[in-house]
Amino acid sequence: MSPTVPDPNAIPSPSRADGLLLGSSRSIADRVPLGLGSPDRSSTAHSLPGRESKLVSTRGSVPWTVTAEELSLEGEETEKARNRMLQSKLGIVASLFHSLHAKHVPTASHCLRVGLCASAWGITERLREKELEQVEIAGLLHDIGKIGIPDRILQKPERLNPDEQSMMGLHPKIGLEILRAAGANDGLLETIRQVGIWYNQFPSGQGKGTFDILAAQMISIADAYDAMTTDQAYRSALRQEEALAELFKNSGTQFNPKLVRSFANSLTQRSPQVDSIFQQRWLGGFRALEGLLPSQFSVVSMLNLNAAQQSLTSVFRNQLLDTMQDGVIFVDLDRQILEWNCTAERLTGVTKNSVLQHEWSCKFLSLRSIDGILVDDEDCPIRSVIQHRVQSSRRLELLHRDGRTITIECDAVPVFDQSKAMCGVSLFFRDASEQVNLEQHVLTLHERATKDPLTKAANRAELNRRLPEFVAMHQDQKLPGSLIICDIDFFKRINDTYGHPAGDEALIIFTSILRELTRETDLVARYGGEEFVILCPSCDLEMAIEKAEKIRSELQSRPLPALRSSCISASFGVSAILPNDTHESLLNRADRALLMAKEGGRNRVVQLAGTTIEQSHADPGKGASGWLRWLGLVPGEILDESTLLVLVPMQLAIEKIRGFIVDHRVEVVSAEKHVISLKVDCRNIQTIAREVERPATLNLELAISEIEFQFSGSKQIRTMIDLVLRSGKQRDRRTQNLVNQAEKVRIMLQSYLAAETMDNKDRSRVTVIQGPPPR
Ligand code: GH3
Ligand code: MG
Ligand code: MG
Repeated sequence: MSPTVPDPNAIPSPSRADGLLLGSSRSIADRVPLGLGSPDRSSTAHSLPGRESKLVSTRGSVPWTVTAEELSLEGEETEKARNRMLQSKLGIVASLFHSLHAKHVPTASHCLRVGLCASAWGITERLREKELEQVEIAGLLHDIGKIGIPDRILQKPERLNPDEQSMMGLHPKIGLEILRAAGANDGLLETIRQVGIWYNQFPSGQGKGTFDILAAQMISIADAYDAMTTDQAYRSALRQEEALAELFKNSGTQFNPKLVRSFANSLTQRSPQVDSIFQQRWLGGFRALEGLLPSQFSVVSMLNLNAAQQSLTSVFRNQLLDTMQDGVIFVDLDRQILEWNCTAERLTGVTKNSVLQHEWSCKFLSLRSIDGILVDDEDCPIRSVIQHRVQSSRRLELLHRDGRTITIECDAVPVFDQSKAMCGVSLFFRDASEQVNLEQHVLTLHERATKDPLTKAANRAELNRRLPEFVAMHQDQKLPGSLIICDIDFFKRINDTYGHPAGDEALIIFTSILRELTRETDLVARYGGEEFVILCPSCDLEMAIEKAEKIRSELQSRPLPALRSSCISASFGVSAILPNDTHESLLNRADRALLMAKEGGRNRVVQLAGTTIEQSHADPGKGASGWLRWLGLVPGEILDESTLLVLVPMQLAIEKIRGFIVDHRVEVVSAEKHVISLKVDCRNIQTIAREVERPATLNLELAISEIEFQFSGSKQIRTMIDLVLRSGKQRDRRTQNLVNQAEKVRIMLQSYLAAETMDNKDRSRVTVIQGPPPR
């Protein structure tokens, strides 16, 4: 940061140091050299036990002319006269300050802070009464000239242009004119005139011993410090340590080094005695100013009263505020910050001292909405309450000074005084990060439980939950409802050609197309692999067919980059809820329609409404007998057929079959002497259960014969088994998948029997000894 700390263009920019930045019009010849005089322990000096002033210079004159009689009065009379004097002097100060307050609140607040700060510093340094008063009043009025600056410049939120800057540069001059007209004495005028002049600009030796210069240099420091610890449009407030470091960095050039050290000391080591004097001055003699302060409440906090000096009620109130779990900020109707409790300090990283008496702005905390949009002052919860007088509750994010973003729940609440007039706004806020994490966690859990991780469509479990409700609700309310089931065509080939990741990509895009072409209220669920179900509420069969057709044709016009710009196609089965449907019957019907679409040549939509069958793009050559199969009127398809040669006699072979039955919990449907009928649930065959998504139930027929087998010229007793495997369900379109499962079951049985398959040549070498009757 450059030594010229305050920015002239920043509004509110109540800093006097800005005059320097703009290039002061005052000549160096005007400036009086600094001089620190020897301590003068006059009766009016503030006596802190055991200490002597380090800064006190030669006597200065009082800010407003005071008569010699007033100063020479004794005892009670002195006290009365002093009070009178103070009243009249403060009357002028108060009027001027009041005018500034009416003109521009931020500037008045800044002046008040500088005055209070200089006062506490002066007390710490045990300045004499008149010097202290001069410093205090110089602090309070150093920017009084801003009264003469047009509002459009004073209140301009952006940087000032060169014309505006030169206009703003006039305020010190205007200030001096105002003060002169108000009867300020030369000492005060001189002090105010020199505020902001750099330390190294004072020619050494000149004006040595002049308190006015010392006072001006004190105000320059307090002024710069306040500007630095205040949020400005162009930067956030610095912390106390940062601001002090900046003062030290520029001491010797901009600031008087001795004063910077003394200032730092007064800030960091303020004693209860200093506080007590400070409090008496400002609550007592300076009561004339009280009406100008935002409220009595703020005076208390500004004066940094220690607990012992406060009433029990306020001790209780402060303690309550500071132990509250909520951050509490209180502002008056001018949005001046009057309270900022410990939790607010902790949650924001912004200290109470750096914001008290400053105008509230959302920028202090970089407030953002949950979507990350910066909350501007128009949208500010506090403004909204001032405007509408109703509580506002929101979840927002704030930027902690350490860089963390903290989610807060905040309530801005109007505050009313005894006469029921609104007098301010309290902002209560609490860290909602944990709650947000918990909500996030619950959402994640819910998502995991209900969504397919790859496509983010609803998962099978969610479909299983929603489908029965869907059917029941439509039946109860006698509303039309439909179900579409679709399956990408030749998806295995897509994986084989373009790779599994490309297949995944195709699934994701396929899902997004389904979403795009369905309504918000439709449920898109991944049923398994490349197969999806869409539940279409309040949608009749015709609309559902139209929807499916739209998706089908859209797929044709969407080349997928992952598939080197080729398109995918899908087949669709559609059905609408019938009055007697169960969720299974509805799904089965749609599933059968899908099977018909596949068998009919794929890339088509088939609907099955009750017993009526229709399809679009169907192969016209398909005969009605084919449909019988879809309707489940023909026995299960043969999936595998073979003849096994077992190298042991029949009795032993049957023992081995028994082993297969027991190990895999195979159901024996019927067993005659030479023919055994078994039902195998592939879920009980580990190799299948592990690899296949939906293990099937298969029927096995074994026709067992004992044979003589001619082998290398000798005849051996062997067993021959004609084995047929059929699909357990009579309608199952996952033919390829079933064939694979059937093959696995056969291989498993062969391994139990240590059997080989026989070809026709082998069969010619067989003589049946005993076996089933020919079929
Ligand atoms: P059809 O037209 O008869 O539906 O033939 P198909 O090849 O699409 O059907 P099949 O059931 O023979 O093959 C489905 C393939 O889908 C096999 C499986 O590896 C693949 N698959 C299942 N889930 C995923 C997945 O999540 N990602 C990828 N890339 N492939 C998957
Ligand atoms: Mg497929
Ligand atoms: Mg499939």
